[in-house]
Amino acid sequence: MPAIVKTKPAYGAELVEVDVPKPGPGEVLIKVLATSICGTDLHIYEWNEWAQSRIKPPQIMGHEVAGEVIEVGPGVDTIQVGDYISAETHIVCGKCYACRHNRYHVCQNTKIFGVDMDGVFAEYAIVPAQNAWKNPKDMPPEYASLQEPLGNAVDTVLAGPIAGRSTLITGAGPLGLLGIAVAKASGAYPVIVSEPSEFRRNLAKKVGADYVINPFEEDPVKAVMDITDGAGVEVFLEFSGAPKALEQGLAATTPGGRVSLLGLFPRDVTIDFNNLIIFKALEVHGITGRHLWETWYTVSSLIQSGKLNLDPIITHKYRGFDKFEEAFELMRAGKTGKVVFFPHK
Ligand code: NAD
Ligand code: ZN
Repeated sequence: MPAIVKTKPAYGAELVEVDVPKPGPGEVLIKVLATSICGTDLHIYEWNEWAQSRIKPPQIMGHEVAGEVIEVGPGVDTIQVGDYISAETHIVCGKCYACRHNRYHVCQNTKIFGVDMDGVFAEYAIVPAQNAWKNPKDMPPEYASLQEPLGNAVDTVLAGPIAGRSTLITGAGPLGLLGIAVAKASGAYPVIVSEPSEFRRNLAKKVGADYVINPFEEDPVKAVMDITDGAGVEVFLEFSGAPKALEQGLAATTPGGRVSLLGLFPRDVTIDFNNLIIFKALEVHGITGRHLWETWYTVSSLIQSGKLNLDPIITHKYRGFDKFEEAFELMRAGKTGKVVFFPHK
């Protein structure tokens, strides 16, 4: 079968013919119906510093997935052949201090498939049964595949009350766009989005942003104050990883407001903690991964409610992997929302 493999410790990846794997104990084999590209896959493709320190080629890439179970390994009793599943990508230990406090999302022994082992950019793939999530049969595979990153967005947006609250989202990359969809579905108003890329500001509008701001052309703090009659936003959701966006977002948040941070900063960030956080009595959340498994229930229900506007976010669909390099290059150039492959042509 064809698979996108990180063959060498260098830029890029290759489409390679590999054997269909056999599920071992506790594993299931799925026919991959849809698989989407995550920013992490792009980092592996680009072979950035993080990828160099973590990835051991050769390895099949990819981790966001929806597929049908076609074989189960020894000892699997929770999943059956024919089940339609997606997968939580964090394989947690269940034994550490965090896990024993039901904080599986911060398990200190987390392994990630597609990062620490073979992934799902293939026609068939192995998923640990403990990580399988059963989907309703009528959920389109491209939505089912998006549930994993949607979990990040849901944990960010719903870390506190959001209905009827003015909300600033900084960064409308794939994750910020999912965040806009979740915020709108959850009743946030107005949703103000700060994003320098015109392409992504347009996507943000299509997903439902009430206002979009180009932070490179106008001051987002002033824009937010104008929109909110000088109050500032109740909720600030950081999805860009840009230090400037963090500072602007904190300044634009109303005293006593809520801040949830998902974006990862490329370096240490210096901000005026006293005036931007402490004296404003802001509630600040760091967000990582997704809560297992509460967030999956929320994500699945949100999709089934029909209220999540996902279609404008899925900007590129590919049958087969033949054009995978084009897909990665478009993503690198910031010319995409989410990119989805349907491996079987
Ligand atoms: P992305 O790089 O595609 O999107 C970031 C967006 O921010 C881009 O569209 C960019 O134009 C925009 N941006 C840049 N400077 C800005 C500024 N000053 N103000 C506003 N927007 C600005 O990334 P993504 O895949 O959408 O992921 C978003 C962030 O979330 C990344 O930092 C990623 O590393 C992080 N992330 C965190 C977790 C976690 O568990 N905490 C999980 C996945 C991703
Ligand atoms: Zn653990």
